Amino acid sequence: MRILITNDDGVQAEGLLALKQALDTIAEVTVLAPDRPRSACGHSITLHKPLRLVSVTLADGSAAWAASGTPADCVTLGVLDLMQHAPPDFVISGINHGPNLGWDLTYSGTVSAAMEGVILGIPSVALSVAWRFRLVVEDEAVKPPPLDFSYAAAYARDLVLHLCEHPLPAHTLLNVNVPYYQPTGLRVTHQGIRRYPAKLDRRLDPMGRPYYWIGGDDPVDVHEEGSDVAAIADGAISVTPVQLDLTDYRLAEKLRAEFLHDVVQV
Ligand code: MN
Repeated sequence: MRILITNDDGVQAEGLLALKQALDTIAEVTVLAPDRPRSACGHSITLHKPLRLVSVTLADGSAAWAASGTPADCVTLGVLDLMQHAPPDFVISGINHGPNLGWDLTYSGTVSAAMEGVILGIPSVALSVAWRFRLVVEDEAVKPPPLDFSYAAAYARDLVLHLCEHPLPAHTLLNVNVPYYQPTGLRVTHQGIRRYPAKLDRRLDPMGRPYYWIGGDDPVDVHEEGSDVAAIADGAISVTPVQLDLTDYRLAEKLRAEFLHDVVQV
């Protein structure tokens, strides 16, 4: 079995190494990831400048590839160049340093890399550790909890073995979030709602010109039964099947009825 792994935290990220080491035990793993952190880059691809690939050494001494592009670029380069003569059986993206829940999926480079894998016809999984801690805290004595990738890494291995027996349908990926502590169970979930409060921090540079920071505040999760955010809030592994088809079928039915009604009235 051959597996291509990538991420959006950069090729030297600890989560990528944990994933590689877990999958090394069951497959021939090719590592190709962005040469720098690319979190929240979404599904952007590089069209207007050349892409470069360089070989790098990971912290455990193993060989990997770093690309100058985005996570989605890495999947394209991996499948169409590095592995062109022996395509991967799976693309696994992660282990992301932080959750990808609810509306995070829209922004996530981790999930977008798995989407690119699906577009290229390869079964794909996005994997994240649901660890989050505000860097700016009122109380300086508050220490962030340890970020432990081991549960997510162990689950990645189990999941790949499961998917060998039970293949995913086309145009679908799995978005997996794992607690940073011993999980209480596993739930198959739907994408929930996680909102980031609209926030704009406007400052002035030394020349008196304004500049801006967006984001920064903790997200607000809606604890809806069966959702990914609820599973993680309860300490369970969340597995969400995600399709590339974004159509709202219920609304489509309603619109058809409405439009038909309008046409009849004319
Ligand atoms: Mn990331």
